[in-house]
Amino acid sequence: MSRSSHSGDQSIPHTAALDIEIDTRRSRKDLDPDLMGIPPRSTPVPPPVFMPGMSPASSAPPAEATATPLPIRAASSGHHDEDAGAADSDIALPKLRLRIDDISHPGAAVFLSHYDAARDFEHCVRSVLRHLYYISPPVQKHLHQPPTRSVTLILRDMPGVAYTTGSDLDDDHKEIHFSLAYIAGVQPSARRHAEIMGVVTHELVHCYQWNARGSCPGGLIEGVADWVRLQCELAPPHWKRGEGTGDDGKWDAGYQRTAYFLDYLEQRFGKGTVRQLNEKLRVTKKYEAKGFWTELVGRPVENLWEDYREALKKEKDDGTRDGVDVKTCEQGAVPTATQA
Ligand SMILES: [Zn+2]
Repeated sequence: MSRSSHSGDQSIPHTAALDIEIDTRRSRKDLDPDLMGIPPRSTPVPPPVFMPGMSPASSAPPAEATATPLPIRAASSGHHDEDAGAADSDIALPKLRLRIDDISHPGAAVFLSHYDAARDFEHCVRSVLRHLYYISPPVQKHLHQPPTRSVTLILRDMPGVAYTTGSDLDDDHKEIHFSLAYIAGVQPSARRHAEIMGVVTHELVHCYQWNARGSCPGGLIEGVADWVRLQCELAPPHWKRGEGTGDDGKWDAGYQRTAYFLDYLEQRFGKGTVRQLNEKLRVTKKYEAKGFWTELVGRPVENLWEDYREALKKEKDDGTRDGVDVKTCEQGAVPTATQA
């Protein structure tokens, strides 16, 4: 990319930048270009509670949310992840780019020594796409992936953790901005790889999820992002199931609280429920809670939240968890991290 500052100095100036383009093996050419449309816009709302600088509110929703239907394929062949029945070769990757705006920043060294940009970035994208769009037929034929054409991971010195946005020129081109200072501060060092994976995974969900043309509550958007992170076993140590479910707890508090609630719904209504929720956010022009949830799973979300709280209480009383296994990413990185 052209924003890199190239200097002839022998010593590396503080503003020195590194710009790498990752050539992914597969491109969008596998998908039908006629059906490509406008993707969800950048990351939505709520100002992060613990981590400032996360995902800014999306501005205008897409005018018309068309998408690329996924090819219908036979049951997964030779893939380990039954839940997400797609082989790597089935998943079309966008162009992936990495830009480090200040390679002399301590966070740059941490990043480069704990994240294999080509391998890990691609792995994160595949994991996100699997958990949002790929599941064994017949469910997956109803899922439509947005036409995100490229994702640029930009590491720079900024407050907060990370956020995602469309590029200035074209919303099909996404940018994930990730704080070098945050990366530098991840401790202990054994957590760095998983933390970076977790944050990138969360932000990549924002590159690919639907948002009811900007009308979806920010807490639900963030909950879906962390639900995927949870499925990938990248939940940081401080996440706690059941936290925030007290009397004043809200289902759409966002992040891990909503993620665990979505996990409950996935177990209760079956695998693919969150994928269908995301798909419904594609076709919904204006989110309206009652109709949305009743059409999706047959009852209002408030009732489901109460059911969830009851289930947690019962688990606590019984001393057991009747939950379903949590799915892992294929190359499952070590759990870790904080929010993005
Ligand atoms: Zn987010």
